[in-house]
Amino acid sequence: QQVLLEVNHLKKYFQLGKKETLKAVDDVSFRIFKGETFGIVGESGCGKSTAGRTIIGLYDRTDGEVIFDGKNVHTLKEKEKFALYRQMQMIFQDPYASLNPRSTVMEIISEPMEVHGLYRTKQDRVKRVYELLEDVGLNRDHANRYPHEFSGGQRQRIGIARALALDPQFIIADEPISALDVSVQAQVVNLLKRLQKEKGLTFLFIAHDLSMVKQISDRIGVMYLGNLVELTTSGQLYNKPLHPYTQALLSAIPIPDPDVEDARERIILKGELPSPINPPSGCVFRTRCPHAMEVCAQKKPVWQEADDQHFVACHLYNKEIMDGKEYSQTAA
Ligand code: SF4
Ligand code: MG
Repeated sequence: QQVLLEVNHLKKYFQLGKKETLKAVDDVSFRIFKGETFGIVGESGCGKSTAGRTIIGLYDRTDGEVIFDGKNVHTLKEKEKFALYRQMQMIFQDPYASLNPRSTVMEIISEPMEVHGLYRTKQDRVKRVYELLEDVGLNRDHANRYPHEFSGGQRQRIGIARALALDPQFIIADEPISALDVSVQAQVVNLLKRLQKEKGLTFLFIAHDLSMVKQISDRIGVMYLGNLVELTTSGQLYNKPLHPYTQALLSAIPIPDPDVEDARERIILKGELPSPINPPSGCVFRTRCPHAMEVCAQKKPVWQEADDQHFVACHLYNKEIMDGKEYSQTAA
């Protein structure tokens, strides 16, 4: 499989005043293959949106690197960065906030084309906007209207059309359906899936709802407090979750078939999500983990491939620690 995006030890810290540092993304690594949908799931505040914005270059990074199609996103010269943005686009949670209320749909969708000098004449751009509107299930009659004249689902379609205007390879969708009515969520998901097939797109799909992410993603990374704690295929994650946090998230998803008895015991996590300003020592999940051990407060678990294509950061899967060697050394 061809790697389109490589994220290596990415860190994004925000300095708050003189002393405090918010570690929004703290040493995260993963790769996204061409044509796949990679999901990132986690509670609000876990750093998933910040990771998305840093990957696409909206934020500078604190450390680490992002390699897109062989190019280092954060060290490119302005001109090359501008060219790279044609390949990477973003869809936002709130389509209304991201669409200029005083612009018509035609202006909204053709703006990126003008900025990037695509399609030489106005007629060419208009023709392209009509095509894009049809691609997302709208039509040319919508072109002269304003965002407020549309429903939430239609506005998200406009946002998607705008993201497609530059014919990108890669799209980051940050909670693209969580602000929509349940009845239109599936329509937008189906639209994204169809566009992916037709245009060979690669997606990074960010959401807090694991059942939603599972439906659309080929592989999934689970984030907790700025850290990636588990990463594997959708199927593996669902059938054999390794990390205690993932197990808790999954236990909250009801099994859809009423004839199948729900064998999963609901795991209720104790306590609140700690602040990323003062994260727990060792394993960031330890204050809420039902399996926490003494070593969890002392050592940060390493990111390891516990099974084929199945990565996890948890001492339970670290043989040396579980055999007690490392642990007794640390204790001594
Ligand atoms: Fe729980 Fe320890 Fe594993 Fe962290 S390292 S998830 S605290 S068992
Ligand atoms: Mg967010």
